[in-house]
Amino acid sequence: MLAGCAVHVEHSRGRRFPEPPHPYRNDFQRDRDRVIHSRAFRRLEAKTQVFTRRYSDHFRNRLTHTIEVSQISRTIAGALGLNVDLAEALALVHDIGHPPFGHAGEKALDAAMRAQGLFFDHNLHALRIVEDFEIRYAAFRGLNLTFEVREGIIKHSKDYGIDEHPQLAQYLLNQRPPLEAQLIDLADEIAYNTADLDDGYEAHLLSLDEIRTGVPVFERCYQQVGQIYPDAIDRLKFNEALKGMLNCMVSDLIENTRTRTQQTGMRTLEDVRQYPERLAAFSTEVEAERRAAKRFLYENLYLSPTLEPEKDDAERIVRELFSFWMQKPGALPPGYQQKAEEEALPRVVCDYIAGMTDNFIYEQYEKYCSG
Ligand code: MG
Repeated sequence: MLAGCAVHVEHSRGRRFPEPPHPYRNDFQRDRDRVIHSRAFRRLEAKTQVFTRRYSDHFRNRLTHTIEVSQISRTIAGALGLNVDLAEALALVHDIGHPPFGHAGEKALDAAMRAQGLFFDHNLHALRIVEDFEIRYAAFRGLNLTFEVREGIIKHSKDYGIDEHPQLAQYLLNQRPPLEAQLIDLADEIAYNTADLDDGYEAHLLSLDEIRTGVPVFERCYQQVGQIYPDAIDRLKFNEALKGMLNCMVSDLIENTRTRTQQTGMRTLEDVRQYPERLAAFSTEVEAERRAAKRFLYENLYLSPTLEPEKDDAERIVRELFSFWMQKPGALPPGYQQKAEEEALPRVVCDYIAGMTDNFIYEQYEKYCSG
């Protein structure tokens, strides 16, 4: 049973190009499946989340991160009586617009674009992928996703102003997104805060003591684990505590969001859209713990000197390739040369680079920029 303020698929605003209904999958299930079958989704497997593979094959990449976000989002949506199919589709598509090399690649691509008076934004890029770049269907370009999925791609993690982005006016920028979209950003945070502690510990970039001191929610769970399994080895106590941390954040998000929707008297999706702020949120205490965990990860992992060389490489490779194709657009693949006749060259080069996997951009760099 869906809650009153959930998105009901039968009330979807529909697709750009109307399609007949499917006999046994609803529109959000079909959107989820279209995302899974897209090329951009498969490329996530070879894109960096935080680490390149040089540490271990066990670490997350953008695809496994995405699957974790999807699992967490389904749990939260289900517990709140929200639309699980929509939440799952949004989780699976949420990182599809990310360029190679994680945050370093994104920063370098944005810097190259800003030097041309433009910018790069991964949500806007994700929308371009699903609207235009995926060529699978004879009847239309893109995946022809429902309005609610396209809206969620744009609005799940930040608010875009109508003055700056008039082309997004159709996505109701003055309204809040549905709860299914609101929860994606928080599920994303839960997924990467716990996963990055895990991978950072495995990589010996973070020690158990550092994590216990710097991440209060982890320490709280670690104390509990110590009482239940006093003789377990460190690695297992660590795993149990991390599992506890994930569970604690998910439960808090579910409980607090339920309380907020009840206390504010939300009855319908329209109520959620018109409410002045987002309703999916952690409690004050867990929100403080979330911030502490994030700060810890920035200071001790993301900005760690050990990761500097690979970030420097990433930025150099993106910067040099961008400038190479700006000077030699004739070296772009034919499809992109054609696009450059209709669109600004920097945007076309940016689209090409943003779609690349880590492996492919390395190959391009070897081919065009080294030696
Ligand atoms: Mg993510």
